[in-house]
Amino acid sequence: MQIKAPRGTQDVLPKDSYKWHLLEKRIRELCDLYQFREIRTPAFEHTDLFIRGVGETTDIVEKEMYTFLDKGNRSITLKPEGTASAVRSLIEHKLYADPMPLKMYYLSTPVFRYEKPQAGRLREHHQFGVECFGSIVPNLDAEIISIAMTLFQQLGLKNLSLNINSIGCPTCRPVYRQKLKEYFETHKEDLCETCLSRLERNPIRILDCKNESCREVVKNAPRTIDYLCEDCSDHFHSLQEYLTILGYDFVVNPGLVRGLDYYTKTVFEIISTDLGAQSTVCGGGRYDKLVEECGGPDLAGIGFGMGIERLLMILEKQGLLPEEPYKNKVYIASMDEASKKEGFRLLALLRKNGISAEGDLMSRSFKAQMKYADKINFTHTVIIGEEEVKTKKFTLKNMELGTQESLTEEELINTLK
Ligand code: ATP
Ligand code: MG
Repeated sequence: MQIKAPRGTQDVLPKDSYKWHLLEKRIRELCDLYQFREIRTPAFEHTDLFIRGVGETTDIVEKEMYTFLDKGNRSITLKPEGTASAVRSLIEHKLYADPMPLKMYYLSTPVFRYEKPQAGRLREHHQFGVECFGSIVPNLDAEIISIAMTLFQQLGLKNLSLNINSIGCPTCRPVYRQKLKEYFETHKEDLCETCLSRLERNPIRILDCKNESCREVVKNAPRTIDYLCEDCSDHFHSLQEYLTILGYDFVVNPGLVRGLDYYTKTVFEIISTDLGAQSTVCGGGRYDKLVEECGGPDLAGIGFGMGIERLLMILEKQGLLPEEPYKNKVYIASMDEASKKEGFRLLALLRKNGISAEGDLMSRSFKAQMKYADKINFTHTVIIGEEEVKTKKFTLKNMELGTQESLTEEELINTLK
């Protein structure tokens, strides 16, 4: 048997999980501030959903999905992103009949992609994401972006860059697509195998290829923002005005297209200069046709996904993660058999009163128990011996100050509370 987690996966050990908790708490509070409610969807879905939703010619669908047949011969895929599942759920539960806009978020959702593992690139990672449906106004785009930006500001992150672009809509895209195809056709010899196959099916996907030689060709390719229709152009300018109102610096990056087919109009990424090659910590955009494409009504949408592991990496690097905030509270040390039983009773009583406590679970000698209590950094130790059992007065030792006092059960509880 191999005692090693599968490649590209990570354990969060007990000593580190508080970092996730801190972040998750912040995120929940933030979502509450924006009045978004949590949605939880399954870790796997029918494969079709992602082929349809994410797009057949995307890297995710072509190369990265964890797809398998289950025992009932259904093709199942482990969730490679969060939006398609949210859309599926919205259609299935007819949430589109609710008052609009529909706002939801997901948190620490496991996301699976068969990628080449490296720092910041895992095969299972976790995302925080938000989705909002039913509105086409550009101030919503700015509001969605501001959720991510506010989180980063609250966390004190530095060296971030907000990149935005518009990739048009079904009105302007055919013209652009044609231009792009013509351009790539004159550079066929420099395109990779995958991109050659994308040339006919979806030339826009070539813009997102990670291959060196394709990237060179892409540098001079026609840009979406030069082909926007009036509606998309107005929307994009309006978004920039709203971002300015919020006081955000941003870069219009015409090369930004995102690796999923469903986007329309606005796309954005928040990039950290502290993450090396895997620099994107948050990415999102508008997907006004996705709900309809998945079989639902004509309902606009916009959202983003944020990698929790990458965010933690930057926080760590910038020294923004506090020391573990939890303290070991009360330890009950007992001297003999009778006091051990009394200690066991007291332990239950303390917990019943909401006091976090621990007793000896290792049959240690009294001396060894005190040594343990010191090592694990308990704030208080309750000492029980023959005398304490008899008098029902317990010795409470403040481990930080080294002081001791003798207390009744009631006094003990009140003091510890
Ligand atoms: P990249 O360009 O780095 O591959 P992406 O465009 O595939 O990212 P999205 O699909 O936008 O990423 O996912 C949203 C966020 O999830 C990313 O910005 C990133 O923070 C995180 N993420 C994506 N893929 C991974 C991965 N393999 N390992 C860890 N985090 C990831
Ligand atoms: Mg990717």
